[in-house]
Amino acid sequence: MKIVRDPAELEFPVRPVGFVPTMGAFHEGHLELMRTSARENDCTVVSLFVNPTQFAPHEDLSKYPRNESRDAEMAEAAGVDVLFAPTVDTIYPRRTTEVRVSGVSERFEGEVRPTHFAGVATVVLKLFNMVRPDRAYFGLKDLQQCAVVRRMVEDLNVPVELRFLETVRESDGLAMSSRNVYLSSEDRAIAPRLYQVLARLASTLRADPQVSVQSLVEDASAQLGREGFEVQYLALVDPQNMEPVAIFHPGCRWIIAAKLGNIRLIDNVPV
Ligand code: AMP
Repeated sequence: MKIVRDPAELEFPVRPVGFVPTMGAFHEGHLELMRTSARENDCTVVSLFVNPTQFAPHEDLSKYPRNESRDAEMAEAAGVDVLFAPTVDTIYPRRTTEVRVSGVSERFEGEVRPTHFAGVATVVLKLFNMVRPDRAYFGLKDLQQCAVVRRMVEDLNVPVELRFLETVRESDGLAMSSRNVYLSSEDRAIAPRLYQVLARLASTLRADPQVSVQSLVEDASAQLGREGFEVQYLALVDPQNMEPVAIFHPGCRWIIAAKLGNIRLIDNVPV
């Protein structure tokens, strides 16, 4: 596996090229994206870049876990050909141009983190232009990010095929996340409740598609509140446009964001 810092060195002798953008601190969720790309393409490129523009000033940029040598070993074992690990100055010599995707960016994560998706869309487009992949791989764990990237690719005619893969979970159901290591042992023990509640909401709605979504949301939020979560949003949405839906419709998903202590967890499940 080659480690590249300079985008000018991103030349690939074989195609198709699959691309997995990441911020490092790899876990099975990242590795599954890499292995899928390695199976589906002749060359797999992973970017490792903790993107400052998607963090608000009060967020955890400086505390974000970083360990490039461990990540490089894991990526190589997952079949990655090129690890692109640029510096902040390489990616952002200036910050004069920004990509903003209206509509899909605005609700849910966009309300809690108003500048987040402009940072995501801008860095993803810059990385696409540097790597020029045939396919790019994203995790549905970050459902709204998938919607934002999909809309940007459509709106700006970016020549890439997008692949979205289902969330990889710990054995107790907790969605894998680089931030899980910061949960206290007490909070780690209750964190899987988030997924259990989502899974129950999905089965309730499947069993009775006419049930009141509003009352399901109120009951589940109150229950999670009693268990120690601070629920920021819980909703049934259409993942194409991230609009709330009032009753079941094909493809809809339950989404949630909740704080446990200082740690913010997000998750979602299909119905
Ligand atoms: P990150 O490094 O957190 O920016 O994530 C890089 C990519 O991995 C994104 O496309 C995420 O959606 C994806 N990802 C993160 N956690 C998981 C997970 N538990 N399962 C599947 N994909 C994930």
